[in-house]
Amino acid sequence: MQSPVNRCSTHIGVTMKKDDLQRTIDNLREKINYNNHRYYVLDDPEISDAEYDNLMRQLEGLERDWPERITSDSPTQRVGAPPLGEFKTVRHSLPMLSLSNAMDEEEVKEFDQRIKKLLGTTDNIEYVVEPKVDGVAVEIVYEHGELTVGSTRGDGNIGEGITQNLKTIRSIPLRIISSGRSVPELLEVRGEVYLGTRDFQELNRRRKEEGEPLFANPRNAAAGSLRQLDSVITAKRPLSIFCHGVGNMGGASFDTHWEVLSAFGQWGLKVIPNLAICNNIEDIIGYYREMTERRDGLGYEIDGIVLKVNSLRLQSTLGAVSRSPRWAVAYKFEPKQGTTRVTDIVVQVGRTGALTPVAILEPVRLGGVEVSRATLHNQDEIDKKDIRVGDTVVVQRAGDVIPEVVKVIETKRTGEEKRFAMPETCPVCGAKVFKPEGEAVHRCLGLSCPAKLKEAVKHFASKRAMDIDGLGDKLVAQLTDKGLVKDVADLYTLSKEDLVSLERMADKSAQNLLGSIEKSKKTTMERFLYALGIRHVGEHISKILAGSFKNMRDLMDTNEDELIGIHEIGPEVADSMLRFFKENDNLRVIKRLEEAGVTYPETEAGERKGNNLAGMTFVFTGALSSFTRDEAKRRVSELGGKPTSSVSRKTTYVVMGKDPGSKVERARALAVRVMTEDEFRELIGAVAV
Ligand SMILES: [Zn+2]
Repeated sequence: MQSPVNRCSTHIGVTMKKDDLQRTIDNLREKINYNNHRYYVLDDPEISDAEYDNLMRQLEGLERDWPERITSDSPTQRVGAPPLGEFKTVRHSLPMLSLSNAMDEEEVKEFDQRIKKLLGTTDNIEYVVEPKVDGVAVEIVYEHGELTVGSTRGDGNIGEGITQNLKTIRSIPLRIISSGRSVPELLEVRGEVYLGTRDFQELNRRRKEEGEPLFANPRNAAAGSLRQLDSVITAKRPLSIFCHGVGNMGGASFDTHWEVLSAFGQWGLKVIPNLAICNNIEDIIGYYREMTERRDGLGYEIDGIVLKVNSLRLQSTLGAVSRSPRWAVAYKFEPKQGTTRVTDIVVQVGRTGALTPVAILEPVRLGGVEVSRATLHNQDEIDKKDIRVGDTVVVQRAGDVIPEVVKVIETKRTGEEKRFAMPETCPVCGAKVFKPEGEAVHRCLGLSCPAKLKEAVKHFASKRAMDIDGLGDKLVAQLTDKGLVKDVADLYTLSKEDLVSLERMADKSAQNLLGSIEKSKKTTMERFLYALGIRHVGEHISKILAGSFKNMRDLMDTNEDELIGIHEIGPEVADSMLRFFKENDNLRVIKRLEEAGVTYPETEAGERKGNNLAGMTFVFTGALSSFTRDEAKRRVSELGGKPTSSVSRKTTYVVMGKDPGSKVERARALAVRVMTEDEFRELIGAVAV
C-alpha cells in the first residue's frame, strides 16, 4: 500500500501533505454537515444544490484516493452500505413505551385528574404539548456524539436494527453538533420517521406509473421504506424525522422535557414545530382545536396531539403502567376514514372540459368535517374499485385533498346496486365526450361548453385567485347563460344595469358586487397567474413562477429551457404554460384584463441587490439599546427582510436585547439562531452598504 503522505490530490488543484489533507477532509465534512443541517433540519438552506453537490464530490474524490481516511460518520457514508441478508435484533436499554389514548375532552380531563390524584396535588400541572406525527417510532443511539445504532420500536423491548437505513435520512445527524452544549457520552434519541404528504403523493404517482402497488398512507410508505434490506432503496425515499424523547442518557441531566427538546435543537436534531407549554386543560383543548384546523396544511400527517408532564422528576414519580407511561397521553383527532353509502354518482365538467364522476354520499363526519361527496376520479378508478350506486363504502379525507372512496364493503351488497357508465355526451352542453388514447380522463369536446366557462369564471373569482367577494355559483351561471360574461375579462366591463337585470339582484347587492370587482383589480402576480387557470399551474407553482419572473410580460417571453431551469418546474408545467401563452385568445384576455386596470406590484425577482435580508425573518425580544423595537423592524423591512413577532422554524434570527423573554428559549428549542444586538447591528451595517 502506498503511503498517503507522498501522494497528492488533484481534486482541489493543490499538492497536499498529510496534515493539510486531513484538514481539508475535516473542513469539507464540517461544511457538508453544516449545510445539510441548514437544509434538512432547519429548512433554510444557505447554499445552492449545485454548491452542495460540489462539496460532496470533492470529499468523495479525496476519500476514493485515501480510503483509509473514511470514517463511519463521514457524510459520504449515508448511502452505499451492502444489502443485508436480514435485520439484526436490537434490545432497547430502556423499553420504548407506547402512549395510551384519549378520544375526547372528557378523557383528557380524566387523565389530568388522575395525574393530580397520583401526585396528591390540586395544583395545575405543567404539560408540554406537541403534534402527534403519524409515522414510525425509532430509536437512535449516539455514543460520544456518533450515531452507532438505529432500530425500530418492535415489541417495545426488542426492535430491528435499521442503522444503515436511518443513516440515509438527511435530517438525522451522523454526528451530534457540539456547539454551545457539551455532547453526552450516551444519548438514546426517540423519534418518529415520516414521509411528507407531497412526497407521499409523488412516490405513489411514480409507483403507479411503474405498475407497482400503491402505499395506503404516508405511514405505511415510511414503514415500508425503513424495512428495506437494501439501504439504497431507502435512500431514494425522502424520509424525515421528528425527535421527541430520550431513552438513556449518560453525562447529561435535565429538569424538564422542554429542556431536553431545547438541547435537541442545539445538538442538530430535528424537533417538531408548534410545541407549546400548557398549564391547564382549557389551554390544551384550545391547542387541540387549533391543530385540528391546521393539520391539513402542515405538510405531514398528524393524528392528534401528545401531552407530556414537563417535569422529569414528576415523570419518574408517576412511572409507567402496562407498557404505557402514566405521564403522557395521545389526544387523538377524529378519524379521517368512515363508512357510508353511495346514493348516486353524478358527473361534473371542469374548466378544462374533464368529466369527473362524483359519488353522492349519505353525510358522514370525517376528521371533524361533514362529507357528502367524494371524487371517483374517472371510469377506470370506478371499474377497478367496482363502485356501484347503492354500495356501502369506506371513505377518507387524506391531507388537504378532496374526500375519496377507498373501497367497497362487498358483504353489504344486496344485489340492488347499479353499475355506472360515463355518458357519451356532455351533461352540460350535449357535445360528444372523448377519451384520448392512453388517458384515463373523458373530456367534453364542445368548444364553447358553458361548463368550462362557468368553472373558469368561478375559479378566477375564487378566494385564493382574484378574490371577488359575492360572485357566487348561481350568479356566475346567470352571467354566463345570458351571455353577459363570455370570458373572465368581461367581468370588468359589467355595468350596474347589467347586474340589476339579473334575477334576485337588488340595487344594493349590485353596487356591492361592482365594488368587489373593482377591489379585485389590485392583486399580486401570484394570484393573477393562478386565476388564469392554466393546466398544472396551481397555487404553489404560481408562487414559484411569480418569484422567478418580475412580471407577466417577462413570463410570457420565457422559453422551455428557462422554465425547466427553475426548481420544481418540470416539463409538464413548462409545456402547459407555453401552450397557454401560444393561444391568441388567451393573450387577448390577458391584455383586456390589464387594460381594464388589473395591476400588481412587480415582484422582486431579478432585482434582489440592495435587499440583502431578502428571504430572512427576524424576531426581536427584550429591550434594544440603540434602536426602538419599531426602528429595528423598519430597518429589517427596508433591507428586504421580514420582521415577525413569533418564533417558528421559519425564523432566521432571533435578536436578543436586554431581559429577553421566553422567545430565546423557544428559538433554542427550534435551533433558530439567536444573535445579540451588536451582531444584529453588524449584520445590517454590513449589508446596508
Ligand atoms: Zn360540454
